[in-house]
Amino acid sequence: MKIEFIDLKSRYKLERQEILKTLDKVLKKGHLVLTNELEEFEQKICQYTKQNYCLGLNSGTDALMMSLWALGIGKGDEVITSPTSFIATVGAITHVGAKPVFVDVKEDFNIDEDKIIEKINKRTKAIMPVHWTGRICNMDKIKFIARKYNLKIIEDAAQGMGSYYKKFHAGSFSDVAAFSTHPLKNLNALGDGGFITTNNKKIYTKIKLYRNHGMKKRDYVESYGVNSRLDVINAEILKMRLKKLKSINDKRRLNVKIYRENLNNKYIKIPEDKKNQINSYVMLLSQAEKRDSLQKYLSFNKIQSLVYYGTPLHLHKATKKLGYKRGSLPMAEKLAAKVLALPHHQNLSKEQILYVCKKINSFYN
Ligand SMILES: *Cc1c(COP(=O)(O)O)cnc(C)c1O
Repeated sequence: MKIEFIDLKSRYKLERQEILKTLDKVLKKGHLVLTNELEEFEQKICQYTKQNYCLGLNSGTDALMMSLWALGIGKGDEVITSPTSFIATVGAITHVGAKPVFVDVKEDFNIDEDKIIEKINKRTKAIMPVHWTGRICNMDKIKFIARKYNLKIIEDAAQGMGSYYKKFHAGSFSDVAAFSTHPLKNLNALGDGGFITTNNKKIYTKIKLYRNHGMKKRDYVESYGVNSRLDVINAEILKMRLKKLKSINDKRRLNVKIYRENLNNKYIKIPEDKKNQINSYVMLLSQAEKRDSLQKYLSFNKIQSLVYYGTPLHLHKATKKLGYKRGSLPMAEKLAAKVLALPHHQNLSKEQILYVCKKINSFYN
């Protein structure tokens, strides 16, 4: 048996007819940029997330950058965030001229809300919690802190489509939230893509102008902007795939449950889902003893797994200037040393997951 971590090829086989039909429909119309198909997609996202506004953009990274920019965050400002994320989180903060400030994480890979206050000073302007693997952070406490210290919240909800906390969808807990539709997210485009959601009309209006060169009308430019529009082909593909998101996420959660029930959790652990949390499981991250040997053993048995990620953000060459060292953020470092993402995608069967469990257990025995 061969178990693949990423199933984009088999997914294409399943969806081929639908995708080709969608392409044909869009291409026949002959309009590919900023058409009403994009607006329809944005409305569907508003309905799904129960937010008032959505804007389709080029990527999740752009969504983060534009969110920060729209809130007026820039030079001299500090933004509190998590060291357990993808580099884009701190890249975005840095690109608008602000300084990322790391707060260590908890066993569940998310920012430790009890350590935020000690990092707040008069330069702090915002908190950017990351819903890592689609597990929503403790937003009650983060919102409380933000209100008390007059800070903005920008959710890095890149992995948050289909994630809920107390029945509220990711993006409901902040001034603005950034989502990604990169091919490896659960709601994925045919290439790069992303969007923001917000209930704040001012933020929406600013980003809407900014993503399209600051052009208010075809021949009237109000201010400089960039080119970051979700293209129409991907808007249509995403609209089609949005209908399948719930069943994809449900299947992923079911696969996670099978792992939980069958893995020998003395040596390999998966963080619990708390009551009130619905996790999209873009990734299934475990904490594995003898991680590197386990990964080799799995690979020998044709089971793909991924170290996601082995280096916390504060230990990259790019982030060196921020002044963190090994030991600065002990939990993030401890988790990174043992982290292993297991194959759990929606097209894996129960038998396949059980096979992976059996191999993992036999490795430890
Ligand atoms: C994927 C991801 C991003 C970046 O999104 P892109 O669409 O690839 O630019 C940012 N943050 C997190 C947590 C992500 O998982």
